[in-house]
This record gives sequence, C-alpha cells and structure tokens, in this order.
Amino acid sequence: MTDNQAGIVTAGVILIGDELLSGLTQDTNLKTLAEFLGPLGVQVREARIIADDAHTIRDTIRAFSHRFDYVFTTGGIGPTHDDITADCVAAAFDLGISEREDALSELRRRYTDNELNSARRRMARIPDGAVLIRNPVSQAPGFQTKNVFTLAGVPRIMRGMLEHIPHRIRGGAQVHSRSVTAEGIGEGDAAAHLAEIARAYPGVSIGSYPFFNAGIRGVTFVARSADEAVLDRIQRELTDLVDNLS
Ligand code: AMP
Ligand code: MG
Repeated sequence: MTDNQAGIVTAGVILIGDELLSGLTQDTNLKTLAEFLGPLGVQVREARIIADDAHTIRDTIRAFSHRFDYVFTTGGIGPTHDDITADCVAAAFDLGISEREDALSELRRRYTDNELNSARRRMARIPDGAVLIRNPVSQAPGFQTKNVFTLAGVPRIMRGMLEHIPHRIRGGAQVHSRSVTAEGIGEGDAAAHLAEIARAYPGVSIGSYPFFNAGIRGVTFVARSADEAVLDRIQRELTDLVDNLS
C-alpha cells in the first residue's frame, strides 16, 4: 500500500454519480465519511468524483483498492439502469455477481412480493463473497468486498449504513489538530514565517485558510498530526507569529 506511512491507516473515497459532476447535486458524503473515519484512526487521503461509467468505476475501485487500506464508494446501488456500482465492484476484482438470498430477505422486510419487481430485485445482486452492510433506513443493503465498502448515495441512507461498520475497521494513529485564527492579517504577511515553521516540522500537515467575513479579512492556520506534543509546540509558534504581525 504505497501511500502509507507506518502506523497510518488510509482511506480513499469514490463518489459516483453524473449528478455530482453536473452540479445538480452537491456532494455531502465526503464530509460525512471523513468525520466518521477520523475518530476511528483512518485518514482520508483522496476523494474522487466520477461519472456513472462502468469502466471508470471499475478502474477507480481497482486502483484505490491497491493504494489505500480502505475504500468507500457511494452512489449507484439503486434499482435503475444507471445503478451499476455492484457490477463494477465485481469486475474490479474479477468476481461473479448474482442475486443473493440474504440480500433478498433484507428487501423483503420492506417490499411485498408484488413490489419486489425485477428493478428492485437488482438491489439484491451482490458480488460473490461480499459481506452485506445493513441499511436501517430503506433495507436495500450495501456490501463489503475485500477492503472496499460500497454504500448508498442518499446521504441519510449512507449515514445509516456507517452505523454498522465500525467493528470492521481497524484504525491506526488518530490525527489531531490545533488551529490559530487571526483577524486583520493577510496570508502574504505570514507566508515567509509560516514556511519556516512548516520546514521545521516536515511530518506535520500545516495549512493556511484565509477568510473574508463581513469585510473582515483574516486567516486560520491549522496543524494536523498524530503527535500532540508536537502540535502544542507548533500552536505556540503560530501564536507567536500572529502576535508579531498584529
Ligand atoms: P444513487 O445511489 O447514485 O442513485 O443516488 C441516489 C440519490 O443520492 C441521488 O438523488 C443523489 O443526488 C444522491 N447522492 C448521490 N451521491 C451523493 C453525494 N455524494 N452527496 C450527496 N447526495 C448524493
Ligand atoms: Mg446515481
């Protein structure tokens, strides 16, 4: 797993749907996933928004599965023709896919025999060997294949599925953050000194996030690392930097 440092557990997120790329729908699933995974000791390293295109979905899943410890896909597991994620997961791992009795029985908790038409039965097609993920909102299950978790696109359903997977995830070092906010200074004023601090702590992610609120400019500096003692030192240095500029 090429992107990994010792003790760091990583995740890649694949957000699937033409509507996300066209601007019709604003993605919210990345934020939900990042906030869910952080406390479990899993760092999201990359998220990619991709179209409902079979080759793109298959190739992205395959690539992410190699690069990251865990992969989360959202979208494309409903009953319509453009819901092709399950087939793409199967293709990514050269697995068969078929209607599964355990998935059908989940669907039967919601749908009568009449309602369970061929479109809805598509939601019971699961790659061979995948483990189901319960859907407490609308029953159609997600599933886990190797290190890939395939979740619903609808934000509320995705959140419901997440409740059922923490025990399947083994996290590593938890990343903490410290932030220092200063109003009335510009990024350019702080940049040189900030670069010195960043150089002194090469393993720490230090970001500069400018804002303009009601005509007041300012900047928030955020340091992120698993080492809280180092973070405390950096926070003092950032506070000194801001004090010197004010
Ligand atoms: P799908 O599972 O791809 O059929 O998506 C079902 C619904 O969930 C659609 O109405 C989407 O707009 C919505 N949706 C899918 N992906 C996301 C996302 N990443 N963030 C917010 N909403 C989404
Ligand atoms: Mg879709």
